[in-house]
Amino acid sequence: MDFVVSDEMRVRLAMIGEFMEKEVIPLEGEMLHGSPQTLAERVSAAQAKVKQMGLWAPNHPAEFGGLGLSMVDHGLFAEAVGRSPLGMTVFGTQAPDAGNIEILHKYGTPEQRDRWLQPLVAGEIRSCFSMTEPETAGSNPVLLETTATSDGDSYVLNGQKWFTSSADGAAFAIVMAVTDPHAPPHQRASMIIVPTDTPGFNLVRNVSVMGEAGSGHASHGEVAYQSCRVPKSNLLGSEGGGFVIAQDRLGPGRIHHCMRWLGIAARSFEMMCQRANDRVVDANGDTLADRQTIQHWAAELEAEIRGARLQTLHAAWMIDQHGAKVARDEISAIKFVVANTMLKAVDTAIQVHGALGVTDDTVLAYWYRHERAARIYDGADEVHKTSLGRRILRRYSAS
Ligand SMILES: Cc1cc2nc3c(=O)[nH]c(=O)nc-3n(C[C@H](O)[C@H](O)[C@H](O)COP(=O)(O)OP(=O)(O)OC[C@H]3O[C@@H](n4cnc5c(N)ncnc54)[C@H](O)[C@@H]3O)c2cc1C
Repeated sequence: MDFVVSDEMRVRLAMIGEFMEKEVIPLEGEMLHGSPQTLAERVSAAQAKVKQMGLWAPNHPAEFGGLGLSMVDHGLFAEAVGRSPLGMTVFGTQAPDAGNIEILHKYGTPEQRDRWLQPLVAGEIRSCFSMTEPETAGSNPVLLETTATSDGDSYVLNGQKWFTSSADGAAFAIVMAVTDPHAPPHQRASMIIVPTDTPGFNLVRNVSVMGEAGSGHASHGEVAYQSCRVPKSNLLGSEGGGFVIAQDRLGPGRIHHCMRWLGIAARSFEMMCQRANDRVVDANGDTLADRQTIQHWAAELEAEIRGARLQTLHAAWMIDQHGAKVARDEISAIKFVVANTMLKAVDTAIQVHGALGVTDDTVLAYWYRHERAARIYDGADEVHKTSLGRRILRRYSAS
């Protein structure tokens, strides 16, 4: 195992770290209680600087201006920009576009790449990914009911989706729909590109999540597909290949999520320690940092974050060495370990901040609201534990 960072990557990480501290984190006040319009302008100005620095969307394929990073380097990048909720957007690597870029790059036809991939990588348009449905269990997507019926040279889509994140303002959706209900379960569905201005693509609402419906990129759309007709040339990959593509989208993507969460955990932890040192709690001038309870929290969290980080880097290294399939166990394990470690770090930092922790004067409450979902999307904790546990126990069964 070797997580040694190359000199080149070390320089990039130092540049990213400095940019995050000086240019991105200061925008959080505008995000938390300023004007969305002013925020959009300032984010756009920061994006222009990132492009000038040659650090725009480093995770994208080298032929599209990315840096051709290894999975370990991807992870380190995600950790660095994860320190602020605005980091991914400022560096052009936000979900769901990043995952869509990966699958368009791998499965897109030359025409699909020209029309959708190129402007997506350049940050000129946004996209969304439309798989989960309100009426069927997302944890078992073979149950999904949205259909794409063949009609001459077209598919006609019908069905209800929700949690189509960032549908509001997106140029297109990649939709998972049943193209052959009689095929074996994992060959029933396909991925189809649906421009959002197609008649029959109806954004019903931005679903209110933890008190906020959001807008634009920061939203989760409910979408009704009502006789929504697209040409068959919008099929991504092969008919019936939807589950294979979905798997490709999720595997390495979990490294990005986990390392971004570790960025959140690290910053929450730092804020916690700073607050503990500053907050005087008795007449002798003792601070929270003088209290054993807080010392234990600091010790436990530091150890847990370090463990989660090493586990994630190891999973990334396994993918680099042996591919995502061989690293299945490692990927399942980090998904639930890191999500829970990150949430514990945010929660503990809020506790140490007292009332300040639940205000929007710091970023902690934002993370508390927005990152709870980490234990649900990309495979709920229980789903990963069940599949990992089953594989582990099988190794010990008498053959
Ligand atoms: C913030 C956020 C963003 C999202 N973005 C997108 C997006 O862009 N595109 C998209 O298509 N979807 C998106 N999703 C949806 C997400 O993929 C689903 O929520 C997820 O797959 C779980 O499906 P479900 O919500 O239907 O839960 P269900 O499948 O109904 O499961 C509910 C709960 O049951 C438990 N459970 C499920 N299966 C098992 C099992 N086998 N064993 C034990 N317990 C189990 C788990 O605790 C789980 O949380 C997003 C979700 C959130 C919260």
